[in-house]
Amino acid sequence: RTAAGVIQPRTTTTRPGIITGGRRRPAGTTAGVGAAGGATASGGQNSVLTETKNKISRLKNIDSKLANMILNEVMIDGATVTWDDIAGLTFAKQALKEIVILPALRPELFTGLRAPAKGVLLFGPPGTGKTMLAKAVAQESKATFFSISASSLTSKFVGESEKLVRTLFAIAIELQPSVIFIDEVDSILTERSESEHEASRRLKTEFLLQFDGAGSNPTDRVLVMGATNRPQELDEAARRRFVKRIYIPLPEAETRRNLLTKLLSGQDYQFSSSEMQTLVRQTEGYSGSDLTALAQDAALGPLRSLGETLLDTPADQVRPIQYQDFVQALQTIRPSVSPQSLMAFEEWNREYGAGI
Ligand code: ADP
Repeated sequence: RTAAGVIQPRTTTTRPGIITGGRRRPAGTTAGVGAAGGATASGGQNSVLTETKNKISRLKNIDSKLANMILNEVMIDGATVTWDDIAGLTFAKQALKEIVILPALRPELFTGLRAPAKGVLLFGPPGTGKTMLAKAVAQESKATFFSISASSLTSKFVGESEKLVRTLFAIAIELQPSVIFIDEVDSILTERSESEHEASRRLKTEFLLQFDGAGSNPTDRVLVMGATNRPQELDEAARRRFVKRIYIPLPEAETRRNLLTKLLSGQDYQFSSSEMQTLVRQTEGYSGSDLTALAQDAALGPLRSLGETLLDTPADQVRPIQYQDFVQALQTIRPSVSPQSLMAFEEWNREYGAGI
């Protein structure tokens, strides 16, 4: 490679601030209000915004600064992921449809014994589609979607995190049906230990209190979805509240093939089917986000091979992406999940998982 290392692929692992994905409200929209799945025409959007604002302003004992912060940074307008965007995970999708989507769309059928679960945990290695699943659930169930990472609760909202949790649940109840997605949920729900700080103890207590409160009225439709890469750290109290615990494993061969094909679609590439077969085999142990990083790196191969001539080569003369580019990329983009940690997930799944 002439210009190896000069062109750096985009990294895919960083999570911006508090939002774990989705579309940020465009700059210039009225501050502090918005709704999932809101209309796009400005007139329609404004009426949705006003309605949301009115609903929130009717809530008692709400700190308006925090409420605005939640509406601006935690609530996500129109989560734009559909089931079809997510490769594989057929069992998880099926389970989520049954647990969440159908009850949301036909609430009158899911009462009493059939009352829907109020808490769902997605666990498994990082980069396997847990956040995407949560967004798809919100989109398909037409729910308002709130997304926050537990570590930003403890770092960004120091001193205010309990109040934020209270406000978040109050708003979610008001704007129901709602999905509250808490990424890295283990960091607020870890097993209590002697060394635990007073502040994190209080946050955990508040979170569990609100979680129970949101489930206490059987007609309330607020679902808490937690995601974790460290399910072993959840204590019994936390496990009990996440009634359904769904394992999101690394992608299997067929899923890797789908994902790679999806990533390459729309690109100029040249692959024989046996090369694709080999690549699928070589990427065993790669997560969805590892595969994304791999394809991004491989896609730079044709540009790297131009070396110094990159600056004056017309775009239509750049060669297609080839299998060889992936062979190079495989050397630098390695799987991020260790076999030992996989065994630990599988063990936890056998003990506490939903059996899928
Ligand atoms: P997690 O929440 O499990 O850490 P994410 O849902 O944030 O992982 O996925 C990270 C990125 O990896 C996604 O934005 C997507 O590009 C890719 N990805 C991971 N799993 C899948 C999948 N099953 N289908 C499609 N893309 C995936």
